[in-house]
Amino acid sequence: MAIIIDGKTIGLQIREEVQQRAAALKVQGVTPCLAVVLAGEDPASLSYVTAKEKALAEAGMESRDIRLPAATTEAELLSLIAALNSDTAVHGILIQLPLPKHINEDRVITAMDPAKDVDGFHPVSVGNMVLGRPGFLPCTPHGVLVLLRKLRIPLSGAHAVVIGRSNIVGKPLANLLARRDVNATVTVCHTGTKDLARHTLQADIVIAAAGSPGLIKAEMIQPGVVVIDVGVNRVPDLTKAKGYRLCGDVDFESVKEKAGFITPVPGGVGPMTIAMLLQNVMQAAEVQYE
Ligand code: NAP
Repeated sequence: MAIIIDGKTIGLQIREEVQQRAAALKVQGVTPCLAVVLAGEDPASLSYVTAKEKALAEAGMESRDIRLPAATTEAELLSLIAALNSDTAVHGILIQLPLPKHINEDRVITAMDPAKDVDGFHPVSVGNMVLGRPGFLPCTPHGVLVLLRKLRIPLSGAHAVVIGRSNIVGKPLANLLARRDVNATVTVCHTGTKDLARHTLQADIVIAAAGSPGLIKAEMIQPGVVVIDVGVNRVPDLTKAKGYRLCGDVDFESVKEKAGFITPVPGGVGPMTIAMLLQNVMQAAEVQYE
């Protein structure tokens, strides 16, 4: 039976450290502030931004909620970003994705001042990450790495199999794990991968970020491995008041009997993402203050 990784408690420890740093900066007259931009009414996006704003408030930081109608034009969004870039009271900008389909996400992300790119999605941030230079690391991949480190999971020489190659999770995660100071050997799987199980069966660490409920099953892993489930999927469940429940990409019930460590969904990677966001906002505020 696996050890269930408590991402909530580890995330809270990080948030408490951030809270102390925020209090120290407040003494200097600066309150870290994140502008949170949500265009449209996607319910999942709304629940994510609400959780982020609550966490910011608990850490003694400010959030500036900017709610835009789904019909907002790209030009309107770009001019808002220009205004936020030059607003010295705003230290970080978060554009909740996905944006409405008529808006080009790449153009919007690139319009952000990289100094305020606390999601780590701007090409400058991505370049800095790949080159191992200082900058903002994307919150979910960084959260996974911090989780593994806090649990003292041996990473150097370990074989990590990452399922997913998106720009926000799979690709940066694979990159971070392969860094010299982490030193894992990384395999990246995607929909073009033939026989996924052949790869996951060779892993010391399986990280699922596919958005496919129950993709990873017990027969696809070796006993004792570390399983990190990044997936957050809504599956219909009429026994729940909301009519759905959240589940990951891992068949938790069967895999937990065989793995050494496993993250639950919810309560695993999700809280780490929020903790890393707060850390990035803090970093932005400190750097801009200096
Ligand atoms: P995405 O952009 O849809 O990317 C999914 C990736 O998984 C793609 O690279 C896709 O391959 C691959 N994939 C999908 N089905 C697969 C399969 N059956 N076998 C092998 N590879 C498969 O998703 P994302 O934004 O990276 O997010 C992934 C999941 O993580 C989602 O459930 C999302 O909700 C969740 N998430 C959670 C957090 C958190 O804080 N916990 C944060 C971000 C995302 P191709 O490239 O070939 O299409």
